[in-house]
Amino acid sequence: KRRIGVMTSGGDAPGMNGAVRAVVRMTLHYGCEAFAIYEGYDGLVKGGDMIKQMGWEDVRGFLSEGGTLIGTARCMEFMERAGRLQAAKNMIVKGIDALVICGGDGSLTGADKFRAEWPGLLKELVENGDLTEEKVEPFKYLNIVGLVGSIDNDLSMTDATIGCYSSLARICEAVDSVDTTATSHQRAFVIEVMGRHCGWLALMAGVSTGADFIFIPEIPPPDNWEEDMCKIIKKHRDLGKRKTIVIVAEGAHDRNLKKITPQHVKTLLSEKAKLDTRITTLGHVQRGGTPCAYDRMLATLQGVEAVKAVLEATPETPSPVICMIENKIVRRPLLEAVAQTKEVATAIHAKDFDRAMLLRDAE
Ligand code: ATP
Repeated sequence: KRRIGVMTSGGDAPGMNGAVRAVVRMTLHYGCEAFAIYEGYDGLVKGGDMIKQMGWEDVRGFLSEGGTLIGTARCMEFMERAGRLQAAKNMIVKGIDALVICGGDGSLTGADKFRAEWPGLLKELVENGDLTEEKVEPFKYLNIVGLVGSIDNDLSMTDATIGCYSSLARICEAVDSVDTTATSHQRAFVIEVMGRHCGWLALMAGVSTGADFIFIPEIPPPDNWEEDMCKIIKKHRDLGKRKTIVIVAEGAHDRNLKKITPQHVKTLLSEKAKLDTRITTLGHVQRGGTPCAYDRMLATLQGVEAVKAVLEATPETPSPVICMIENKIVRRPLLEAVAQTKEVATAIHAKDFDRAMLLRDAE
């Protein structure tokens, strides 16, 4: 009878609760035992009450709740081997032999590192006299399965991460609100959206709201962008548009990797295009609130698949991450997905923007 732990880690994202619910209930459905690890890796390192056995009723109502009800954290101790040793001990004490982690690339990297170190950690626990040989024997293999929970949609090898469509919907609502006041006063608005090194939210928000100009990290604008942008915006105004919306991804930069700030864009629109311009930074509103239908569905289907992946795993199977590719739930090697994601940042840093786009798209 497997004992499967589930946790949320890194930045919160709408839909994470749906993933926890699906993992808990699917685990119970298969006759196994489910545990929630509270506050991300912090809970694993602290153990005790932070690791709770979960029944069917315990996740009632989770599907429609935003954020993560079991908490999340950034845990410095887990970055160190000593923290991971303590985490291993806590897991064995609770009898947990598999972990499903819903988080970003950092959380998934940490998880795979934990699995790679696992035999060494068990050996050390026995040598230190923390646990007996008999106690650790049934826990020789640790299964790790990743679920990508992030509003940024920044993981390669999946078309959508849990939370990204809720965030996109929230951004669109906000831009629609700004639109009405912009139109009334014939104003220009520069709207900064989240996404870190990924431009997906900015690009899709721009497409969905008919923005006049969009800045994203993967496709920096040509060198003469300042002039270009003003020209395009003036053309839109000449065609009768009463408002201007420019969306800037938080990671936006020019082809020399110089940051493009909302303030800089505002100055250009005010001084060169002579528009009454305001800046709106959407901030944490973008990650809050209830998950949209798509994220509930994605979280549920992926949570189900995660439990299946645990039950089908062999010691040789590389840790999988559950992805969505062309509307199908699939498993991909977790480490490869993380490595490819990191390569995007490397390509951008090397100013190889074509490669960055290629890597973002690749399965
Ligand atoms: P987000 O995309 O929202 O930032 P994330 O999962 O990438 O989510 P991180 O802050 O990078 O967020 O990681 C969350 C936690 O995962 C860290 O606080 C740490 O406990 C653990 N972690 C991250 N990277 C590693 C690593 N290389 N080794 C061990 N643990 C790690």
